[in-house]
Amino acid sequence: MTGKEEEEIVRIAKRLDKMVTKKSTDGAVDLLKELKSMPITLDLLQSTRIGMSVNALRKQSTDDEVISLAKSLIKSWKKLLDASEERNDEKKKNSSLPKSSSKDATDTKDQSSIKKQESPKTPTTPKITTFPPVPITCDAVRNKCREMLTAALQTDNDHIAIGTDCENLSAQIEEYIYQDVKNTDMKYKNRVRSRISNLKDSKNPDLRKNVLCGAITPEQIAVMTSEEMASNELKEIRKAMTKEAIREHQMAKTGGTQTDLFTCGKCKKKNCTYTQVQTRSSDEPMTTFVVCNECGNRWKFC
Ligand SMILES: [Zn+2]
Repeated sequence: MTGKEEEEIVRIAKRLDKMVTKKSTDGAVDLLKELKSMPITLDLLQSTRIGMSVNALRKQSTDDEVISLAKSLIKSWKKLLDASEERNDEKKKNSSLPKSSSKDATDTKDQSSIKKQESPKTPTTPKITTFPPVPITCDAVRNKCREMLTAALQTDNDHIAIGTDCENLSAQIEEYIYQDVKNTDMKYKNRVRSRISNLKDSKNPDLRKNVLCGAITPEQIAVMTSEEMASNELKEIRKAMTKEAIREHQMAKTGGTQTDLFTCGKCKKKNCTYTQVQTRSSDEPMTTFVVCNECGNRWKFC
């Protein structure tokens, strides 16, 4: 497999995800046709999670052509998967494809396959840390809660530096809350409200940062108690994790580039990895994050 193909598939996956979030599948047919013409391997399926994106699109679309194209793609990818399963007998562990067409079963299984993919065994190519698409809801209460969670995640604009798609992330969190509570009554609303107040808490910014960079998963934040979210002890642990996790998240997004252009201020060696992140609006210069590969010293500049 070549990196170029992978990049292309990731690009298509992102566009499909966007269509699902925007609830508009205009142009999806072209992307699906493009996918159909590409030689997709099992490795590519697993590293790009394209199956999840196509399946989310299939579930949402009302366009017959989109649905039938998506179905035929998923069907052909399943064949790849089945073939590999026959070979190595490892049961459906790494599947990035939905396994059943029954709606409820698909949803829960999607979630479990998301979780399994979160722990990559082979760190080959840098993992693109976007959150997978979530089921769309037409429930006004649920959508309102997603909006409020998005606003809470966007407190202090940390999400820009970290590079998080807050709308997608808040939908993930809301989905897990809904799955746990199973209705939108008082318990659900209280649960959402307590997430929001903790995420916005100016005395506990690390909670938000950890959620934004994925160190605390949507599934975890959905069910944490107020004590857990605010706990001093946990805060200390998280503080240590946060910096590292944020840097990794940023590096993963861009891959990070090794260079001898920078001299480390501490050890004076020239072995650094740098990554550039758009921290403000797109017409302003990128912020460059540099890490010294020798001593771990980190700095940034614009
Ligand atoms: Zn150094």
